[in-house]
Amino acid sequence: MLRIAIQKSGRLSDDSLNLIRECGISFINSSLKLKTESTNFPLEILFLRDDDIPGYVADGVADIGIVGQNVLVEEGMQDLTVEALGFSKCRLSLAVPKGDSYSSVEDLNGKNIATSYPNLLQAYLSERGVQANIHTISGSVEIAPSIGLADAICDIVSSGSTLISNGLREVEQVFKSQAVLIANKELSEEKREILEKLLFRINAVQRAQRAKYILLNAPNDKIAEISKLLPGVKSPTVLPLLEEGWSSLHSVVNEDDFWEIIEKLKASGAQGILVVPIEKMII
Ligand code: ATP
Ligand code: MG
Repeated sequence: MLRIAIQKSGRLSDDSLNLIRECGISFINSSLKLKTESTNFPLEILFLRDDDIPGYVADGVADIGIVGQNVLVEEGMQDLTVEALGFSKCRLSLAVPKGDSYSSVEDLNGKNIATSYPNLLQAYLSERGVQANIHTISGSVEIAPSIGLADAICDIVSSGSTLISNGLREVEQVFKSQAVLIANKELSEEKREILEKLLFRINAVQRAQRAKYILLNAPNDKIAEISKLLPGVKSPTVLPLLEEGWSSLHSVVNEDDFWEIIEKLKASGAQGILVVPIEKMII
């Protein structure tokens, strides 16, 4: 049985649980329980505070875990990383009161900066030759300037609305983060095999999230042209329509590319284009 540590309640929790479910792993989740076991995969889930996850995985209390890179790198444990997961994207940024003048990071020399990420901030400032006084606080960092605790802050930002509502202006991006899967370095052979199975499923889910199944009708003399636009996994499927001279073409397309090629498809005579989600994709 492999043990995974995920955040009990917070910004990583829902996406972490969804990823496990999308991998076809079922479990009963009670918000009161600190651990649960899957009913159809050799996985036990521990629910922890995100800050504790890297340490527990490094110590082997949990075998693997899901945590933000910001926490992982702050704790100096980035070497546990197995794979980036693409959710909980955010950035660690420096912000100053919006009325303060600011032209470059050198303006922070000698200033007091409040943050929950002293190591990431220190590394950033040292690289730029800036010396500031870092005040480590564990929460509500954004109110530090307004209560006179600091001249600037360094905190997690996603939309920026928290900064704005506290009269702050984002001035530098210190670190970019997303959720990552981490693993203990000394997993037994059995556990490593379960992890491989899990990674295989995670990759299938992630590939499917970007891919779309596309179906369209095309005149037979345009199939070669359209196939070049839609190479798919191997090559498109072409099926005859009942109507003479027409075919239905099926393929897979990356969502990011879809909007680029849609005009070209129409110009090539494609009609009745359907784009549908894919749940899993194994290539
Ligand atoms: P815990 O109680 O588990 O210690 P926390 O309050 O430290 O929780 P959260 O605010 O739930 O942590 O954030 C968890 C992680 O989610 C962060 O470390 C970061 O990687 C990511 N994150 C934080 N804020 C955002 C955001 N606004 N958008 C997306 N991801 C975010
Ligand atoms: Mg935390």
